[in-house]
Amino acid sequence: MVCGGLRGDELARMAGAAPDPRTVPFRGHYHELVPERRHLVRGLVYPVPDPRYPFLGVHLTRHVHGEVMAGPNAVLATAREGYRGRDLVPRELAETLAWPGFWRLARRHWTMGAREVLVSSSRAVFARQARRLVPEISAADLRPAESGVRAQALGRDGGLLDDFRVDTHGRVVCVRNAPSPAATSALAIAEFLADRHVPVR
Ligand SMILES: Cc1cc2nc3c(=O)[nH]c(=O)nc-3n(C[C@H](O)[C@H](O)[C@H](O)COP(=O)(O)OP(=O)(O)OC[C@H]3O[C@@H](n4cnc5c(N)ncnc54)[C@H](O)[C@@H]3O)c2cc1C
Repeated sequence: MVCGGLRGDELARMAGAAPDPRTVPFRGHYHELVPERRHLVRGLVYPVPDPRYPFLGVHLTRHVHGEVMAGPNAVLATAREGYRGRDLVPRELAETLAWPGFWRLARRHWTMGAREVLVSSSRAVFARQARRLVPEISAADLRPAESGVRAQALGRDGGLLDDFRVDTHGRVVCVRNAPSPAATSALAIAEFLADRHVPVR
């Protein structure tokens, strides 16, 4: 069973599976609400998803200890484990750029891509995204927090896979795409994989 997250496609290929889809890393930045403004968000505040994209966009999450996170946006990461903007692995970036699906995606969604880069580079723009959900939030209420990297399966045709994808290659089961809420539902997914996908000897 191969469940490699950001390395899912590499490991699947090593097991003999097809190169399509490619796993492309997208970094998502978070900002945290300063403590004195946490009262603005008492639960989870999510936007209505845009069915054209698998990325939900900036939303607000109150954690169990009271911290409130705003984010994530989504920008192409220049390394698979590219958690910081300066993380660069030339070979991995070159592989992403060599994937035909990347350019098809870029042609289709370059305006969204440019907007996401802008959201990353400016706290004021980030705050504007958060304000769509809670109008009282200003840039001064936010401070930078951690980032996450999403393993996004991208087809050769430029399509972003927004659902689970499991391939079986011989006796090897490869999880090729496990989008959110795969963490929340990890145990149920494990049961599903064990019941339906483990090849019988
Ligand atoms: C910013 C962000 C926010 C998210 N929020 C949520 C949320 O609120 N709720 C939710 O349910 N999901 C959320 N997700 C999605 C969730 O994290 C993923 O769907 C889930 O982690 C996918 O599980 P996975 O097992 O496929 O991959 P991963 O969790 O990435 O696990 C893959 C593992 O394989 C390991 N690995 C890779 N290569 C090798 C190798 N060669 N040898 C050995 N080990 C290897 C990695 O180190 C890693 O531990 C979020 C994701 C991101 C990026």
